[in-house]
Amino acid sequence: MKNYVDFMTARFKAAGYKITPQRIAVFRFLDGNKSHPTAEDIFAALRREYPNISYTTVYNILKSMLRIGGIQELVIDRERIHYDPNTSLHHHALCIKCGKIIDVIMPVKTLKLPGKISAQFIPTSFQIYFYGKCRDCEIKDAKEK
Ligand SMILES: [Zn+2]
Ligand SMILES: [Zn+2]
Repeated sequence: MKNYVDFMTARFKAAGYKITPQRIAVFRFLDGNKSHPTAEDIFAALRREYPNISYTTVYNILKSMLRIGGIQELVIDRERIHYDPNTSLHHHALCIKCGKIIDVIMPVKTLKLPGKISAQFIPTSFQIYFYGKCRDCEIKDAKEK
């Protein structure tokens, strides 16, 4: 992707949305962002620069981005929804100790369903969530022992 901010701006305009400074701020925050932030993370980061921005505004911008396309929602963490500006097919791994989410790029493009299920269902996409412990947490735990 060349420029995420331009890309999202064009998509919003095409969908008939106004381009507000808050929307640009969210696009800019997500540009190349691999940290899979939550709406709370984005709100906390942006309120320093935009003291008038509200959590609801950030949340609504994310919902519009989901509707228009250009972001994906991760439901890897039961407590909070995370957002990813990378909408290409990739998977995720969550560290259950520190909550870090890392991208998992795998060459798998399709998964075959067992015969009985594929007779009733045609999959168009899939998403794998891995759960475990990141290397940093693993090292920390080893030191504490
Ligand atoms: Zn960790
Ligand atoms: Zn990702």
